[in-house]
Amino acid sequence: MSEKTVFSRIIEGEVPADIVYQDEHVVAIRDINPAAPVHILVIPRKPVPSLVHLEEGDVELAGRLLLAVRAIAEQEGIAEDGFRLTVNTGEQGGQTVPHLHLHILAGKRFTEGSMR
Ligand code: AMP
Repeated sequence: MSEKTVFSRIIEGEVPADIVYQDEHVVAIRDINPAAPVHILVIPRKPVPSLVHLEEGDVELAGRLLLAVRAIAEQEGIAEDGFRLTVNTGEQGGQTVPHLHLHILAGKRFTEGSMR
């Protein structure tokens, strides 16, 4: 078993974090180094290393992650104005924590067509 990531340690309560949402499948926290006025990480409790490690058996989890994004967007008041959802995957994708997570970025206007 590989070493626990910081996100597993947050989920297990070993490391403090600003938790904004949690349910049976998902925990969401504010990013410690926000790249936008609202920057939330949506993390499955299951330590799937990245998007490419999702399996057939994770079909419910994949849906739960997206439904959690919707719930958080409504809770944070960003559903109407909109937000960006990013999933950095692997080294070239800029993923630094090997535990699947979705970035919700909001509170600023992202340049049309630009990915950053
Ligand atoms: P990524 O580069 O997609 O793997 O994103 C990892 C994100 O986790 C970065 O935006 C970090 O700022 C964030 N992060 C790392 N450690 C923590 C922490 N302890 N609490 C909250 N966010 C964190």
